[in-house]
Amino acid sequence: MARRSMRLVEYGKPFQLTKEEVPTAPKGGAVVKTEYAGMCHSDVLIMDGDFPMPLNTVMGHEIAGTVHDIEPGEDLKVGDRVAVYWQGGCGECSRCEVGETIACLKDIKRHLGAMEDGGFSDYVIVPDTRLLVKVPDTVAMDTACLLPCSGLTAYNAVCKMLPTVQDFAKHTADCAVLLVGAGGLGLWGVQFAKQLLPAGVRVISADVDNVKLATAREAGCDEALLWGKDVDDDTAVAAAKKACGGLGAAVAAIDFVNVPETFGRIEKILAPGGMHVLVGLLGVGASGSVPLMPYVLNRHQMTSLLMGSLPQLKDLMALVAQGKIKPPPISHHPLENVYDVLQDLKAGKVEGRAVVKL
Ligand SMILES: [Zn+2]
Ligand SMILES: [Zn+2]
Repeated sequence: MARRSMRLVEYGKPFQLTKEEVPTAPKGGAVVKTEYAGMCHSDVLIMDGDFPMPLNTVMGHEIAGTVHDIEPGEDLKVGDRVAVYWQGGCGECSRCEVGETIACLKDIKRHLGAMEDGGFSDYVIVPDTRLLVKVPDTVAMDTACLLPCSGLTAYNAVCKMLPTVQDFAKHTADCAVLLVGAGGLGLWGVQFAKQLLPAGVRVISADVDNVKLATAREAGCDEALLWGKDVDDDTAVAAAKKACGGLGAAVAAIDFVNVPETFGRIEKILAPGGMHVLVGLLGVGASGSVPLMPYVLNRHQMTSLLMGSLPQLKDLMALVAQGKIKPPPISHHPLENVYDVLQDLKAGKVEGRAVVKL
C-alpha cells in the first residue's frame, strides 16, 4: 500500500505527485486517512511563495478523514471520523495544554499543510491526538474539512465582536453589525452572526458582487449593500449608515476583505465604542490609515485574528451538528487536479469551496 501526495517542490510551479509508504502513528499522535481536503485562498499564497513554507512539503490544511493508526488507550479508535485542527504547537506549554496551540508560548508552529505535510495526500501524520476533533454523524465530511479553517475563522470573528454587541444590546434594541465580503467566509459569518449575536441585531452584508449578495440574503442577512467600483466612499458610507437603522452606525464590523478602501469605510460607519475586526488577507502589501484623534474620540476598538482555537473548533462542530448552519456550495476534485483548481481559485473562478476528494 502506498500513499500518494502532491508536493510543493518549487514556488509557482505545478506540484509533484509522489508515492511513499503509508506512515505509522508517531508517539502521542495518529495517522488519518484523508477523505476530503479543502483548497483555501491561503494555499494560493503558500503556493506562490507569499507565505513562508518549506519546499518539498504537502499542502492542504483543511482535512477530514478517518483515524487509520493510533496508540491503544486513546479516546479515539481506528475508523473514527475526525476533522484535523491543523495548527499544532509544542504540545507542552500551558497555552497548548488548553488548546491555544496557535498562541504556543514557545512559538512552535507544527502547522499541517503549511509547515509539515498536510491533506493533499491519502494519509496525514497528526503529531498530537489532541488535535483531532470527532465529526458527529449529522455533519457531512466535506463540510467537516472546511471547519478548521474558513469556518473557524468566521466563527472566531463573530466571537470577537460578541462582547461589544452584547454590551450595546443591553442599552438599545436598535443594533446593527456590518460584514464586509460575502464570499465563503462572509456567508459563514452571516449565519454565525444570526446564531450567536443577541436576537434582533441587524446583520448587514456588503460586497462588490451582486450574485454574492443574493447568496448572503439567502444566508439570512437583513440588508445587502453593493459596493461596486462605481460606488464612491461617501455614497457607500451613507447607504451603510442608513441601513443600520436608528443608531445610524454599526456597533461592530468584520472585514473579510481587508483592503485600504474597506478599512477606511468601516472606520466611518462604526458607532462610537464600536469594534472593528480585521480578518481578510487580500490587502497583500497594502496599509490602511486611521485619523488618530477621531479614533480616540470615538473610542473605536480594533482587533485581528487568524483562525481560532481548538476549543472554538469543538464548539463550532457542535453548532454545525445542530443542522442550523448551511455550508457553502462545495465542489469535489481528484487529487491530481489540485494544482489546476488552485489556479482557478486564484483567478476567482471557483464558486463556494473546492475540496479534494481522496
Ligand atoms: Zn485555509
Ligand atoms: Zn506550546
